Amino acid sequence: SRKKQNSVAAFVSGILQGNITLLSKAITLIESTNPKHQQKANEILELCLPHANNSIRIGITGVPGVGKSTFIETFGKHLTGKGKKVAVLAVDPSSSINLGSILGDKTRMEELVTDENAFIRPSPSGTSLGGVAQKTRESIILCEAAGFDTIIIETVGVGQSETVVHSMVDFFLLLKLSGAGDELQGIKRGIIEMADAIVINKADGENIQNAKIAKVAFNRALHLYPLKESKWQPKVLTASALHNSGIQKIDALILDYIALTKENLHFNRKRNEQNKFWLLATIDQQLKDNFYNKIKIKKALQEEIDNLETGKTTPFKAAKKLLEM
Ligand code: GDP
Repeated sequence: SRKKQNSVAAFVSGILQGNITLLSKAITLIESTNPKHQQKANEILELCLPHANNSIRIGITGVPGVGKSTFIETFGKHLTGKGKKVAVLAVDPSSSINLGSILGDKTRMEELVTDENAFIRPSPSGTSLGGVAQKTRESIILCEAAGFDTIIIETVGVGQSETVVHSMVDFFLLLKLSGAGDELQGIKRGIIEMADAIVINKADGENIQNAKIAKVAFNRALHLYPLKESKWQPKVLTASALHNSGIQKIDALILDYIALTKENLHFNRKRNEQNKFWLLATIDQQLKDNFYNKIKIKKALQEEIDNLETGKTTPFKAAKKLLEM
């Protein structure tokens, strides 16, 4: 209808003009489970897509307490100070249970929140990591269309969330703390391999020496991996997010990475691969949602689960029956 057309058009022109209220509202549509909202969100996305892509997407992960929000605040202020426009999004699959465990707390990133060149959005909630990730990915598009040239995606690294964030960013940064020589303990397998940089945070006061030791240990660990397809040799830096030291170096490092990968075409190749991955992931997700959200299926699924328990069916027989419904 005309009215619908108009409101989609109003959203799109508002977003393209950098209107934050409309950007927020459009992201709310993306996050909605109402099919009408989703339809509208899709139309907005489609029209915003040609205006997106012109950004640097940075993923940041680290255990709770490592200083992610402090770092994003300091780094974000550094970027807006240079005239950049920074959007901060999050992927937190636990946010539906543990309401807004990251970015939800308004006291976090106090300064960045009030910076007119920054936009901070908590993690969408969802029952599956795939669903949360898809919404975040779509939000990236809208933020870029709204003129945000640096997109930061935060994740706490629950389950597979680092992998998912890694698959939607250009540069992946792992925040770590220095310990007493056991830096590499308790680190998730694969995470070092994903990192384009490791930043030892809280390198201040009495920690400075330990941070230097940790830097050496992580550097050694990074050199165990073969050179990446990007031809980028991941680096280890130290920083203090709290005292704003080492931040400029991290910024410069990321810019080096972008320059190198744009030059050797890896940057675009990676984004294309990510797009392909997300096309397939979206189909996957949509098929699952379409299936599981049907009232008929919900009811029948419960019945089959009951039948399984009483030995009246087998998993395969039950699955076949449900899929053929
Ligand atoms: P997150 O859970 O990873 O987001 O961590 P936060 O940013 O909330 O930081 C956890 C605690 O560490 C807070 O009390 C911060 O003030 C503190 N913190 C963060 N960065 C630094 C730092 O660079 N140096 C020191 N000494 N403390 C820090």
